Amino acid sequence: MACCNNNKANNSIECTVTECKYHCGDANYCSLNSIKVGTHEANPTMPECTDCQSFMKK
Ligand code: SF4
Repeated sequence: MACCNNNKANNSIECTVTECKYHCGDANYCSLNSIKVGTHEANPTMPECTDCQSFMKK
């Protein structure tokens, strides 16, 4: 699977969301230089409460 960004994994951003078009395919990293993280909860209490808001469906 080819990465959208010349197969450049950003080793500072680990990610396992292979459904995202910015996922680096051959390694569990994001290919973006930076991402935006947010929450869908009023009072986030655990990791599941947070979201990558840079996600884009393939
Ligand atoms: S944009 Fe977010 S969800 Fe998509 S690969 Fe990067 S870190 Fe993962």
